Amino acid sequence: MAAAANGPIVVVTGGNRGIGFEISRQLAARGARVVLTARKTTAGEAAIEKLTKEKLAAEFHALDVTDGKSIAELRDFLKDRFEHLDVLINNAGIIAKGENDALKVDLATVRATLETNTLGPLHLAQELAPLLKRSKSGRIINMSSGMGELSDNSGGHAAYRLSKTALNGVTATLAAELRGTVAVNSVCPGWVRTDMGGPHANLDVADGADTAVWLAMDAPQKLTAKFVRERKVIPW
Ligand code: NAP
Repeated sequence: MAAAANGPIVVVTGGNRGIGFEISRQLAARGARVVLTARKTTAGEAAIEKLTKEKLAAEFHALDVTDGKSIAELRDFLKDRFEHLDVLINNAGIIAKGENDALKVDLATVRATLETNTLGPLHLAQELAPLLKRSKSGRIINMSSGMGELSDNSGGHAAYRLSKTALNGVTATLAAELRGTVAVNSVCPGWVRTDMGGPHANLDVADGADTAVWLAMDAPQKLTAKFVRERKVIPW
């Protein structure tokens, strides 16, 4: 083992690939007790195996963020296993196939994108808040995107943009309701070379994971209700 896993207990959604896997990797390397979740068991177990080969430990639990039963099962598992939770990283996200400009996008595409990118994180926060409140430094980190920034909107990819703007709304509202107990922030990871970001993105996954890992492990607990990129607060 690289480090004794006695650090914070962290749940990462969409941990099987991309930024979520890298966040899990970096957290495990720093001794966090990572619960790596994925909707496909085979993909989640393969991710754990990859970490094991690097002598890193994480625990897998199945989670589809759009499925209430799956969220309840994760909650019950965490309650039995740890009795509390320190950090929830809502990383899982999609850009749907039917993506388009706001004037053209099919509303079914918007609804499906909201289900994963916005309502999934909200539902997880609802179910896991009681466990997060038992932590001495509870944190929720919502993987948003610069494409959800109201102050810098160039149009296009409307379903995704709206879902991330709404996710920022979830962040601000939860932060207000949880002030003094759980810090809640949104992150823009930058443009990152993953399946979603594509091969031409300017950042590698290590850089893309950095701010979320910093918020999970190092940021001051009083930092809450913010939108953060490269460890700095940016406009909503
Ligand atoms: P990615 O490579 O496409 O990975 C997305 C992850 O989300 C996968 O693990 C996927 O699982 C999971 N996922 C999707 N729907 C899910 C569901 N219903 N339940 C559970 N897991 C689900 O994307 P990424 O680039 O790593 O992006 C991670 C996050 O960063 C996303 O929220 C994204 O919007 C955000 N972001 C990315 C960029 C970028 O440039 N890459 C920029 C800004 C923001 P499967 O393998 O099962 O599909």
